[in-house]
Amino acid sequence: MFPPLREELRGLEPYGAPQLDVPVQLNVNENPYGPSPACVADIADAVATAATTLNRYPDREFVALRTALADYLARDTPHGIVPEQVWAANGSNEVMLQLLQAFGGPGRTALSFAPTYSMYPEYARDTMTRWVAGRRAEDFTLDLDAARALVEAERPSVVLLPSPNNPTGTALPPEAVALLCEAVGEDGVLVVDEAYGEFRRTGTPSALELLPHHRNLVVSRTMSKAFAGAGLRLGYLAADPAICDAIRVVRLPYHLSSVTQATALAALRHTEELLGQVDRLREERDRTVAWLRAQGHQVADSDANFCLFGTFPDRHAVWQGLLDHGVLVREVGPEGWLRVSIGTPDEMAAFRTALTQVTGQTP
Ligand code: PMP
Repeated sequence: MFPPLREELRGLEPYGAPQLDVPVQLNVNENPYGPSPACVADIADAVATAATTLNRYPDREFVALRTALADYLARDTPHGIVPEQVWAANGSNEVMLQLLQAFGGPGRTALSFAPTYSMYPEYARDTMTRWVAGRRAEDFTLDLDAARALVEAERPSVVLLPSPNNPTGTALPPEAVALLCEAVGEDGVLVVDEAYGEFRRTGTPSALELLPHHRNLVVSRTMSKAFAGAGLRLGYLAADPAICDAIRVVRLPYHLSSVTQATALAALRHTEELLGQVDRLREERDRTVAWLRAQGHQVADSDANFCLFGTFPDRHAVWQGLLDHGVLVREVGPEGWLRVSIGTPDEMAAFRTALTQVTGQTP
């Protein structure tokens, strides 16, 4: 059969939300605030400088970028982070695929708890790793006894735990991470995917704080969300240096282009300004959750830049109705629920008006 695709991949659709040209795009958890003119100018300068040496391969070990990322992550842990603990790739999707390439593979198991990020089973499939999904509780939290029992029964070499979880927004308490790291043991790694970590509510600590106590813990982050850099494609992790070293075996040489490294470094110089926008988005998130609840909708507690709300007997009709009003949200998660990313105050006002019209309620 042509093309001679692996049998288990035949007939599969590539992953991805519809990319539709509508006025209010609240479907892929992007940051609605683009970089400031000062940040754009800094990136343009950095890329111009990088362009003068594009005939040379980039720094394969991206030392300057690892150092800047380590400095940034050190904000979230009293124990500090050194560059040898940091690894990066083209988006945290690539970071996690590399983790599966290094620690998964035939005869090994990767595990998570549904509903969760739909790319996880794809990393497993692509690396020929067996995939096991436990269930989250009704309120989307983890039942720790059941989670520990599943880990002990399946002996996974990779556990993927987003905190906050996508699409539910649910954060994981540090006690849960510690307990599951113990359950996984040294035959596996536990990846806390903090793609939305910067949006967590006050009082929720990052799993970065636990790194000195658990050699098998990996904390993954991205510049796609808090750093408003979805187009940049830069994800990274912090872990024991031995884990970073192991990933170097499977990474492609020079996987981070000079342009990517220069752009990420320039964006990191604008951390304060970008995190200021994160604070605005957290406030808008809390306002959105409160409004949806006041309208009588169910809303999952959210520590992210989106929230899951419902439930609708025909969620597709609500999704389509919102789209007809120029507002694109995501039809994802358990049956009946929809997910809305947090946009600017104007975008959220458009969302509220559209939802009120679609569901026939008064604003
Ligand atoms: N993890 C989670 C939980 C996500 O929702 C996403 C993106 N939607 C990613 C990882 C990947 O993000 P990126 O590759 O842009 O870093």
